[in-house]
Amino acid sequence: MDFLIQNGVVVNAEGSARTDVLVQNGRIAAMGEGLACVNAVRINAEGCFLLPGFIDTHTHFDLDTGSARTADDFVTGGRAAVLGGTTAVLDFATQERGGTLVQAFDTWQEKARGCSCNYGFHMAIAEWNDKTAAELPEMTRRGVTSYKLYMVYDALRVDDGAIYAALKAAKNEGALIGVHCENWDVLNRRIQEVKARGLTGPAGHPLSRPAPVEAEAVARLMRIAELAGSPVYVVHLSTAEGLAEARRARARGQEVYLETCPQYLLLTDACYAAEDGVKFVMSPPLRKDSDCEALWEALAAGEIDCIGTDHCSFTMAQKLQYGNDFQRIPNGGAGVQHRGQLLYTYGVCKGRITPEQMVQLLSAGPARLFGLTDRGTIAPGMAADLVVWDPAYEGRISDTNTAHNADNSPFAGLSVRGCARDVLLNGERIVENGVLVLPGRGKYVARKGYGKCR
Ligand SMILES: [Zn+2]
Repeated sequence: MDFLIQNGVVVNAEGSARTDVLVQNGRIAAMGEGLACVNAVRINAEGCFLLPGFIDTHTHFDLDTGSARTADDFVTGGRAAVLGGTTAVLDFATQERGGTLVQAFDTWQEKARGCSCNYGFHMAIAEWNDKTAAELPEMTRRGVTSYKLYMVYDALRVDDGAIYAALKAAKNEGALIGVHCENWDVLNRRIQEVKARGLTGPAGHPLSRPAPVEAEAVARLMRIAELAGSPVYVVHLSTAEGLAEARRARARGQEVYLETCPQYLLLTDACYAAEDGVKFVMSPPLRKDSDCEALWEALAAGEIDCIGTDHCSFTMAQKLQYGNDFQRIPNGGAGVQHRGQLLYTYGVCKGRITPEQMVQLLSAGPARLFGLTDRGTIAPGMAADLVVWDPAYEGRISDTNTAHNADNSPFAGLSVRGCARDVLLNGERIVENGVLVLPGRGKYVARKGYGKCR
């Protein structure tokens, strides 16, 4: 089916213009004034923005953390994604210790069946050795161009030497590595200290891993990447001090990419004192107002490359299944549905960023950086992943009015403006007037290299 989207304002990272867009055979066929196509279904986007489908660089669907399995799998997570205008997610396919990357990739392909948005995988490497290194070319053939290493979690963390070696190997392969930056040894000592003071509930969580726990790890990663001579990506940056360390590395001439998340822009550690404080137990923890402000300024200045959600949702029953002990509360929260609305409401509508910057952060930037070469921009020849964004919508996020499967949202209570009225995925209209009419149409997106952006 062909579509002619008329009267909308097309927003790309480079600029905006009121123009019509013709979609044929899954791609953008033409753009311009007064396009005609007798067979095309017309979509009137009067009063709306037409945006390139959003790409979420950071989701955890159908993940078993050892203590709990996430409330959202690819079916429910993908549904929530597209209803918020996210047409592609990059999920973390996680290697098991003793297992291979190929096994993890195949497992995640199985998990992703029936997903309503497109998807690709960052491979999370839990064990770096010669065998893992030898698998990188096969991963490239399968369209994987990015990896993740953890400095934390007993089942996932790798040592600094492994980070150094993996960074070098990834560079040779034309791939990019993202790293979860926190100092595991120190934060574990602090967990014991905080608990010894009697602070065992959610309020103890941010005290156990304050800003320097992240900043030290970012600084260390920057120096390791400097020694390896490799580009590097920091996932879910949450602090002004971590940002300062990344800036220092860039000033030395290093190629550094940064991702933050809506929760680090909009929520603070005051949330842990709330009755439902368990909801906000995630790592890194929520920070201070001054950290949020520093991250907003960095967004406006173009210093941050991507906004992912780190969607890793659990039900309240799961959050509380081991009691109120912050060390044992499953880490993570929902967010995949609301990233666009939150950035539009608190970024664009508040005048902190322009609509073009929003598209750069949600679509064009991630597409270029992670090698989704025919997405992220509205132009002839590109895949037709499109969002008709209605700026007139006003609503409020609650724990119960969301599309994801978890029964809570860290953003509950926040008012939002704008919504994804219609969504085209691979040239099909899958969301119509805010309703998912064609579920399960997502496809695996094989990626090509990573794109140097800095
Ligand atoms: Zn994560």
